[in-house]
Amino acid sequence: MRRVAELVGLAMDVPARGVERRDWQARGLAELLLQSLVTDDDQLANSAIRATRAIHSATWRFTERLDALRTLAETAFDLPTLRGPTPGPDRPRAQVASPTVRAAAVRLARILDGRSVGASVAARESRVVTTATALRTELNRVSPVRPAAVADHTCVNLWVPPGLTWSGWFATDDGPVFTATPRLVGRPQLAVWFGLHVGTHLDLLSRSPNPAGLQFGRGLLIAEGLATALEIIRFAASAESDEVSVLQAGLIERLARLPGIATWGPVAMPESESMAEAVALSNPEFSTLPTLAGAYVAGPFVLAGRRFRCRTVPDQLAEELFELWRSVGFVGY
Ligand SMILES: [Zn+2]
Repeated sequence: MRRVAELVGLAMDVPARGVERRDWQARGLAELLLQSLVTDDDQLANSAIRATRAIHSATWRFTERLDALRTLAETAFDLPTLRGPTPGPDRPRAQVASPTVRAAAVRLARILDGRSVGASVAARESRVVTTATALRTELNRVSPVRPAAVADHTCVNLWVPPGLTWSGWFATDDGPVFTATPRLVGRPQLAVWFGLHVGTHLDLLSRSPNPAGLQFGRGLLIAEGLATALEIIRFAASAESDEVSVLQAGLIERLARLPGIATWGPVAMPESESMAEAVALSNPEFSTLPTLAGAYVAGPFVLAGRRFRCRTVPDQLAEELFELWRSVGFVGY
């Protein structure tokens, strides 16, 4: 029971205020409900549902997801039906990113502009279903390029719509678990989204003495910074053109999430193709979560400035990641 209370406490402890805080908390509780379904934990479901009462309203995108998972959990565990937060309108929280985030965005755009990437041929390729078996195989296949990689991560099939999931990786009593929800993806996407990005999260959870803290709040900001740092490294280092193309699209999309980028991006880098592409995109999921959006872009550079050393990052992972960062020439970039 103590562990359940700790998990709910972590999900509610987010470094933001006002509506951003409530949206972020709603998102965290939705993830905990997913975790309760994956681990068949009725106490966790019950506590997460009760905690939703502290969130009076949140942006409809998050309340909708929370409602769907709450209903699933209430049905699965035969719990009483409670009312969730009231859905509110979509309102961007901030239009200005911090100087650190803007400086990191310029560095990332410069790296992206520095490698010419051909058109992706991924669309022609056969696609694969993201089953637990396929993901586990891919996590092992990609492990040689991950720092301090751990083999044989546990993946569990959960037949809920992928739109109801956010990260899907959890620290459970039995170790890290990834939730496989049914999707059709190309091979390069499988490699980048799961083998590389999710793999980095699972390795971190495996090696951390306090893995639950990495799922939420400040810990999550660090976790996303590390996973994106490896994406940036692989963008520079990979010889697989399809993989590079997927990495490029993903990193441009991270830029597009930043608050106000349409205003300050072109001013900072008028000639940058990557910046122009980011400005042309928009990401409603993150427009209300600017702190988290900033972590994907500024996190890699800020953490690299500290050689990825941080209280929540195991030494071996920090050292190996920094070695990779240095090997592609990013030190002092
Ligand atoms: Zn992530």
